[in-house]
Amino acid sequence: LAVEGVQALSPYQPGKPISELARELGLDPAEIIKLASNENPLGPSKKAISAAENALKELCLYPDGNGFELKQKLSAYLGVNPGQITLGNGSNDVLEVIARCFAGADSEIVFSQYAFAVYPIVTQAIGAKAVAVPAKDWGHDLDAMAAAVTERTRLVFVANPNNPTGTVHDSDAIEAFLGKIPADVLVVLDEAYYEYMTGEKDPDGVALLSRFPNLIVCRTFSKAWGLAALRVGYSISSPAIADILNRVRQPFNVNSTALAAAAAVLEDTDYLQRSRAANTAGLKQLQEAFDQMGLRYIPSSGNFVAVEVGPQAMGVYQALLSHGVIVRPVTGYGMPNHLRVSVGLPEQNELFLNALAKALAAAG
Ligand code: PMP
Repeated sequence: LAVEGVQALSPYQPGKPISELARELGLDPAEIIKLASNENPLGPSKKAISAAENALKELCLYPDGNGFELKQKLSAYLGVNPGQITLGNGSNDVLEVIARCFAGADSEIVFSQYAFAVYPIVTQAIGAKAVAVPAKDWGHDLDAMAAAVTERTRLVFVANPNNPTGTVHDSDAIEAFLGKIPADVLVVLDEAYYEYMTGEKDPDGVALLSRFPNLIVCRTFSKAWGLAALRVGYSISSPAIADILNRVRQPFNVNSTALAAAAAVLEDTDYLQRSRAANTAGLKQLQEAFDQMGLRYIPSSGNFVAVEVGPQAMGVYQALLSHGVIVRPVTGYGMPNHLRVSVGLPEQNELFLNALAKALAAAG
């Protein structure tokens, strides 16, 4: 039988796959619009595809277990030392390794209500106690989170911007928060959506590392860099923390195709710029349409928006499916009145909005 914390978990609910809905509706997969998993709607960078294809020639060899080339490129890109980087099979992998390295069965891990679903999973999987701090205006209540730290707390997860709410704290707020956390408690600043932020005082965890040795910043190639299928993410921390993480991660946790594609996409600055521009425009398109439709939403700094459709959200979700549009219910996050929609291409957003209007009309 599973240990107590694991028994209490519900499985992570991914977005419904396109192939599954296409089969159910008897449609061609190309007719389905999936705006459910915060994926990059541009399709992958051509440079990444060609690097990945090239890596396929070495399928019979183990990958470079140290990710030498990718770490070199990332360190130059971020202005850090390669020894500060830990690579993972998606940043989820890094989050799990962090929990396993730094917390145990007798410890507490603090995160926010409505925070990313993987935090309770990695916490409860190691038998630690999950301390979910009530949110404020859908975002993290950083003061309350700092106050929730006890002598048993080993880790604090902060998603900035957060998924599924899209809420963000600026650099001053993050810095003030870090100043309140004891030096022997690690803070994981999860910046999976970092590249999408467009504000003036956007937080940049990497810039804070030299002043806060207990900080770990996590980022990913799954979102703005468009490589979700390959599963590659990373953390940046002090070399001492990276050394510990490297002892526990699986020896070949990032595959060769992922390593090659990630190294290549880092040089595709045009792709990143197009990702950012498309997201800014798409977010505006969705949020303006919600305003016109009289729907409340949580203003987002990510590549998705949580829109309030009322207590019949699951019915609206089902109705959208029947129109060939997949979005994400967030009931599992304790947000039964919202649906989370990822930013798509302009025509996908338009089709989603039309389907939403029909679904809402049908739901009364
Ligand atoms: N953190 C947050 C806040 C996320 O939303 C996600 C993606 N859903 C991740 C981490 C993990 O991304 P990946 O494992 O694909 O790097």
